[in-house]
Amino acid sequence: MHAEIIAIGDELTSGQRLDTNSQWLAVALGELGIGVLYHTTVGDDMAANVEVFRTAIKRADLVVATGGLGPTADDLTRPAIAEAVGVELYEDAASLAHIRKLFTSRGRTMPQQNVVQAMFPVGSRPIPNPHGTAPGIQLEVARSGGAPSLLFALPGVPAEMKEMWHATLAGEIARHFPNRQIIRQRRIKCFGVGESKLEAMLPDLIRRGREPSVGITVHQATITLRVMASGPTEQACYEAMEPTLQTIRESLGTLAFGEEDDELEHVVARLLAEKNRTLATCEWGTGGLLAHWLHEALDERAYLGGSVIRSPQAAILGAGVAGETIDQHGPVSESIARELGASIRTRLGAHYGLVVGAFPEVDPDADEPPSFFLALATPEIIHIKSSPFAGHPEILKARAAKQALNLLRLTLIGR
Ligand code: AMP
Ligand code: MG
Repeated sequence: MHAEIIAIGDELTSGQRLDTNSQWLAVALGELGIGVLYHTTVGDDMAANVEVFRTAIKRADLVVATGGLGPTADDLTRPAIAEAVGVELYEDAASLAHIRKLFTSRGRTMPQQNVVQAMFPVGSRPIPNPHGTAPGIQLEVARSGGAPSLLFALPGVPAEMKEMWHATLAGEIARHFPNRQIIRQRRIKCFGVGESKLEAMLPDLIRRGREPSVGITVHQATITLRVMASGPTEQACYEAMEPTLQTIRESLGTLAFGEEDDELEHVVARLLAEKNRTLATCEWGTGGLLAHWLHEALDERAYLGGSVIRSPQAAILGAGVAGETIDQHGPVSESIARELGASIRTRLGAHYGLVVGAFPEVDPDADEPPSFFLALATPEIIHIKSSPFAGHPEILKARAAKQALNLLRLTLIGR
């Protein structure tokens, strides 16, 4: 049993508007325990729409479409469904009365073209749309050699679509597919290695068809392992996942830093609070990103603040670095990272001074990427970490800020 979502509109296929309806519907269906196997997006073209509906009905037990229910010439969902299933359109008196009333209540008379919004494929039922002029469509389509496919068409306006989902579709779908297994997921967040290396550390968990399934995604160097299980109840799902979660935790050790919505700064916030420790930062390469994240996740008792510098001059005048150190070692150096850490820690009176050093110039012809430096000044010692400066330019800052947070996290847990 699986579903297909169809998003209709030239504004979607041309990229002028992001198709957020499909995402929302996929999550809503998932919560009902219905897996979505296809997302189809189609422009406002009659032949293409007919083809899309025919295909969906054939391959999906449940089809939910949005868009194309308006009164204008580019709104083709009604006739497209009628043609796809081979029926005529009829006029629904109650829907027409509702549309007329909406116009009257807004002090307008209904334009003649809105009559089409009261037209429905024979055999279908209107789905009420209390706040809009476009009722939805519900239709069961017989299929040769199998159960019928249940088809819904909703307006594209997100607020109307959501209201109609809650008022009608969620209940109808649950009633229609009573013996569904529900689906629940847990996420484990990891940082510190690339995704293929991480996958290799897991004993054949990311295998297709495994139950519970384990998926892997990466966003700005943070890897998310998503464990999904289906079962008759929530508790059954979570119990089915537990051994897999345990295997992941054991296999990854400190690479797994958190769960669900955790980011590294949240974990650091908890660890600092537990130990009653304070933090200050100094950033050169990351331009304040680290400070921003910490500002969001920690209160003023834990994160005292810090400095953002961008030039040797700022390092000397504003961040306590000796001119000779820069002259001797250059901005991208272990010595500068060390001095920045010691300086911010003592100037702000914090337990820890965390540093992202300056970023190096990249020579496209070099065989090896250059390095940059992170530092963590503690009351006892200054930890230094050098890291290759490589990867997509869009994630370099986020990754460096996360590496700094991870250095602090590992120190706080004693690794
Ligand atoms: P329609 O029902 O096709 O007349 O769509 C009405 C409006 O809803 C469009 O102009 C879009 O602004 C919005 N819309 C339609 N489809 C989507 C979608 N898949 N995701 C987000 N917004 C949409
Ligand atoms: Mg449209």
